[in-house]
Amino acid sequence: MCGIVGYIGSGRAYGILMDGLRRLEYRGYDSAGVALERDDGTLSVYKSSGKVADLEHLAEGKDTTGSLGIGHTRWATHGQPNDVNAHPQVSRGGRLALVHNGTIENYRVLKETLSQCGYSFASETDTEVLVQLIDYIQETNHCPLPEAVREALREVDGAYAIAVVERDQPDQMVVARKSSPLVIGVGEGETFVASDATPIVGHTDQVIYLHDNEMAVIRRGKPLEVQSLAGEARPSLDVQTLRLSVAQLEKGGYPTFMLKEIFEQPSTLTDCLRGRITADCRRVVLSGVVENREKFLRAHRIVIVACGTSWHAGLIGKRLIQEMCGIPVEVEYASEFRYGCPRISEDDVVVAISQSGETADTLAAIQLAREMGAFVYGICNVVGSSIPRNTHSGTYIHVGPEIGVASTKAFTGQVTVLVLLALCLAQIKGTLRPYEVEPVAKALQRMPATIKEVLRLAPAVEQLSRTFTYAHNFLYLGRGYNYPTALEGALKLKEISYIHAEGYPAAEMKHGPIALIDDEMPSVIIAPNDSLHDKVLSNVQQVKARGGRVVAVINSGDEAIKSLADYCLEIPEVPECLTPIVASVPLQLLAYYIAVNKGRNVDKPRNLAKSVTVE
Ligand code: GLU
Repeated sequence: MCGIVGYIGSGRAYGILMDGLRRLEYRGYDSAGVALERDDGTLSVYKSSGKVADLEHLAEGKDTTGSLGIGHTRWATHGQPNDVNAHPQVSRGGRLALVHNGTIENYRVLKETLSQCGYSFASETDTEVLVQLIDYIQETNHCPLPEAVREALREVDGAYAIAVVERDQPDQMVVARKSSPLVIGVGEGETFVASDATPIVGHTDQVIYLHDNEMAVIRRGKPLEVQSLAGEARPSLDVQTLRLSVAQLEKGGYPTFMLKEIFEQPSTLTDCLRGRITADCRRVVLSGVVENREKFLRAHRIVIVACGTSWHAGLIGKRLIQEMCGIPVEVEYASEFRYGCPRISEDDVVVAISQSGETADTLAAIQLAREMGAFVYGICNVVGSSIPRNTHSGTYIHVGPEIGVASTKAFTGQVTVLVLLALCLAQIKGTLRPYEVEPVAKALQRMPATIKEVLRLAPAVEQLSRTFTYAHNFLYLGRGYNYPTALEGALKLKEISYIHAEGYPAAEMKHGPIALIDDEMPSVIIAPNDSLHDKVLSNVQQVKARGGRVVAVINSGDEAIKSLADYCLEIPEVPECLTPIVASVPLQLLAYYIAVNKGRNVDKPRNLAKSVTVE
């Protein structure tokens, strides 16, 4: 996702910032920029959509001197990824330059107020609203920058890490954070700022982690000031020693992007849920649904189109919407839909799901659905990609860039958004009352903590993976909500380990695949304590009766399955409709460790592409 780097010292800021931005590239981004302040106080800003290399190209031949500067890699949340929306964002007259990671939730209200005070806005970003607000406060109160920043942040709801510099103040930088990390590197006569330690490594190993609701004023040649947004100085700076090598950098300390992305899920789900459930957990607000309530209310049918992992999420979406909203749902592979003589009318809502927002078959299906008069709703991750631009409305899953080819955090984000969509639609249709929404919404709010707990299974799964590294075939079984989880678990294993794996509805097994079962073909059975638990228990018995080995994903304390299965992975209990989110995590880990044991390139499995932009 987005990244920040900042420098103040005696060196040349530009080179340090560019190196830092390159180190942050691993997070994924869509545009980059820097603001440089020369010793005479003049400020210049260079920014461009695209890669850090494009920014370098842009700055070629320009004045890049100055020993104070801030840089940013943006991952657009508000507005297209283009040059104007790239950071740094500047205040009117170019007096202040600011970089920002995160989102300002109340930016609309602030923007309106500032517009009434004569401010205009060049970009579509929430960030520009913040820099103009700081400018406004500073101009109105005639106060120094640190005070204006503190004052402005009191007005702001949202998540942020920011760094701000001011024209004619070449000796000062102000930084602050809330719910988005920021670290300060303290060197000999120079100070570094970054959204994670990667740009700092190699310059200094002495770092101070800014806490939530804290800001720091960094002044050349002066001691660092760290204080709360309420204005209280931090009693001790708590300088820590970094233990990160340059080699570990790219993946934030993880050996692969895939493992990093699996472990990121508690925070990606926090981002995915942010601002979408009311504080009392009795209402879900997805603006894309609320703003188009008439279209959804009119829908006789919902047709979900997707490919691969997104199609599995779609199958879960079908069950969710049918159960909660009473609307019939069909799920189609986008590639089949487009050539399958679809019967679509104005009374249908088509929901298109894609991580990248560029999946060629899904785009073609959208085009067809639109031509046939349907209202098309997109569920995507990459902001500003083709699908959001080609649908009538939609929801971003906001899980940050997914770089590992095998989808993990995008899947859990997609399912989470589908739960929110079903709840929101059920409220609008009146098929669920607030007291019925509440338990699911509460469990969703707890989901990041729940997933953290599930991730503690990693060492046990790693151990278990050694038993199965040389299996040639796997069967994944589940029922109800977890039939798609079984499909997704099998797909993960296939994609990265190249072991053949089949996902099957558990009860269908006896109509064919049961013939394959022997002690060389393990079955992974997803069996939480849900409405079909006892049925799945019988399926476990059927596999065991034929000498098969069973890995069961169960809720803690399920003695019935424990006494039958060879290995159990215990996950916390959640409402039935949320079990796919929780149960998919140990399956991601299992596929991951088996693939690693086999020496596979898990981030770039053979023959696969991250974003399938061809038919
Ligand atoms: N919300 C800001 C934007 O869309 C910052 C996004 C980021 O974190 O990179 O410009």
